[in-house]
Amino acid sequence: MKILFYGTKSYDEQFFNKILEGYPELDIHFTDANIHKETAALADGYEAVCAFVNADLGTEVIEELHSHHVKLILMRCAGFNNVDLEKAKQCKIAVMRVPGYSPEAVAEHAMALVLTANRHTHKAYIKCRENDFSLGGLMGVNLYGKTAGIIGTGRIGQAMANICRGFGMRVISYDKYENPETGIRYLPLSQVLKESDLISLHCPLTEETRHMINRETIQTMKDGVILVNTSRGGLIKTSDLIEGIRAGKFFAVGLDVYEEESPYVYEDLSDQILQTSTMARLLSFPNVMVTSHQGFLTMEAMEAIAHTTLQNAVDFMEGRHSDHELTGRFCQASKGSRTGTGS
Ligand code: NAD
Repeated sequence: MKILFYGTKSYDEQFFNKILEGYPELDIHFTDANIHKETAALADGYEAVCAFVNADLGTEVIEELHSHHVKLILMRCAGFNNVDLEKAKQCKIAVMRVPGYSPEAVAEHAMALVLTANRHTHKAYIKCRENDFSLGGLMGVNLYGKTAGIIGTGRIGQAMANICRGFGMRVISYDKYENPETGIRYLPLSQVLKESDLISLHCPLTEETRHMINRETIQTMKDGVILVNTSRGGLIKTSDLIEGIRAGKFFAVGLDVYEEESPYVYEDLSDQILQTSTMARLLSFPNVMVTSHQGFLTMEAMEAIAHTTLQNAVDFMEGRHSDHELTGRFCQASKGSRTGTGS
């Protein structure tokens, strides 16, 4: 099977190349071009394409891929909210993904954001390098003994709950589909927002969850709350978050994902003038820590992504049943189930 990998960076190629020998039936080509309307035609002559969270796999792109006889879209990520699944089904293009490749990778990054934003280690590092050993602006709060509110108790939410327990925190959670096996105490969303000192978002972005953190819900949170989002930018209405930060509602905010991230994420734009100001505004606040959708970026996660993506291709080729298929050809995608649409 000939597969075109779109939007690859050196670290992607490194992990796929390492295991390619084990998949002699796959003929893989990499391009650093990301997939969108103008680049979809590059897939001519390929049976499959592989893409990531920042790809545009909307209606027009799927139609274009169909016109070039592409039969399979391999998402090398868990998320698929950037894929028009209905159009893919109509075009008989299968879509497969990599769910739960390393929940700990993302949860550990969520806690790293909390710690950095709370204890200002990013600033302390620069201050010390400049021989400024004063402590002004570095005050933090203890996490020990505080309450962590986990929104979405799937794989990553559970990993984050474990980390928070390790810090001596009381953990409460909200999930639309409660899972008693997690052993986490479930409460209504309003209660979790009201009682938590740290709120960590781990539910998928759907029409229902879009802007779940907004002016009204922010007002119900404790003053001095810490908010961290490693899930999807659209969960937070950024303009309301900025209003809340300005009003002094948050002790710290950590964002690995944010609305409007698509044009920027994974690109080095250090010599360019950004065309939107949201990022600049967020970065102007001393208690906000932003990273560029890197929660997944650990060696273990990359290895797991590479293995599962290539195995998905082989399963498709051999007509094997796979729970990783979203288009319902071999299995039914989980409408209304616990499965999310996240990255
Ligand atoms: P998962 O499917 O295991 O868990 C998602 C949880 O959200 C489930 O328990 C589900 O019941 C719950 N949920 C669904 N709808 C909900 C709703 N309306 N309200 C509250 N909870 C709801 O997914 P996961 O592997 O834990 O991933 C969680 C999210 O993390 C993904 O959706 C994705 O957006 C994000 N993610 C980010 C990165 C990164 O690099 N930053 C990497 C991977 C995943």
